[in-house]
Amino acid sequence: MIVEMKTRAPQAQIDAVVERAHSLGFETQLNIGTDKVVVAILGSNTGRVSTDVFAVMPGVESVARIMKPYKLASREFKPEPTIVRVGGIEIGGQTPVIMAGPCSIESLEQALATAEAVKAAGAVMLRGGAFKPRSSPFSFQGLGDRALDILAEVKRRTGMPIVTEVLDPRQVDDVAAVADILQVGARNMQNYPLLRELGRSGHPVILKRGLSSTVVEWLSTADYLLAEGNEQIILCERGIRTFETDTRFTLDIGAIGVVKRNSHLPVLADPSHAAGHFELVPCLAKGALAAGADGLLIEVHPNPVQALSDGLQSLTFSDFRRLMGELRQVAAAIGRPMA
Ligand code: PEP
Ligand code: MN
Repeated sequence: MIVEMKTRAPQAQIDAVVERAHSLGFETQLNIGTDKVVVAILGSNTGRVSTDVFAVMPGVESVARIMKPYKLASREFKPEPTIVRVGGIEIGGQTPVIMAGPCSIESLEQALATAEAVKAAGAVMLRGGAFKPRSSPFSFQGLGDRALDILAEVKRRTGMPIVTEVLDPRQVDDVAAVADILQVGARNMQNYPLLRELGRSGHPVILKRGLSSTVVEWLSTADYLLAEGNEQIILCERGIRTFETDTRFTLDIGAIGVVKRNSHLPVLADPSHAAGHFELVPCLAKGALAAGADGLLIEVHPNPVQALSDGLQSLTFSDFRRLMGELRQVAAAIGRPMA
């Protein structure tokens, strides 16, 4: 249930609504907007209480039941868009944010060369995996802690904020010590202990959509992070499993529109993992940006032929530079110009 308070309702009236909810056995969460407060009444059983219980209280503008399975990620709870701020960069603001880098961190030379190249081309954050969620246990699993040290060194030298994946709730503190944004991979979208730990960390999170998850399931997992009080959540559409096999996954561009309509959270697209092939990455990248994505996560490697993971879908430095030129034109055309 959502209780919308009147514009500039005094704090005492807000407190009274919160206390009433608690007395009925419900948890609450507040969205404090610029001139309005919305109180979410949370619990598996809010249906047993009439909306009138809150509607009659002083300072209450309206009360509505949220019929969607997700609450805190919904636009009903928070009508204004969420902007996640990392360093001086805004994700979910006017300017699309390009994050790029190798699938896996392989060496200091590889990571540094890639960071410098993507930065020069206009990317504002470096992505790179230290702990890799590979489909086979016999595939390269990432350099782990050594990769974290490399990322820290690259950040020190280039000033680029870092995005890297965390696989295990026990790793959150160590990865967060280096990463500016922690990535939850598609395979871990429904790893609830990990989500709760990341929620408690308060650290910015990119939550990728599961390989076979609906948008509703995806936004419901965002609620796990939000329920722990972490509002720094960025979604990422990375392609879903369909009957089509010519692309690795099917990038669901429609989902970008659905998320923008139904949620306040920013949404990125990852054209690389969807495409599965470097020649298809530009088409998906431009399409996603035109569809309203707040940014892109793109795999780039100094020498894709020798990459230890995802070489086929990785762009060379010159391909990435060319793509950035095209993305600038798309961004300008939709009124969201990039520097
Ligand atoms: C990645 O970003 O390298 C990755 C493994 O992505 P996903 O979880 O979307 O497969
Ligand atoms: Mn990858």
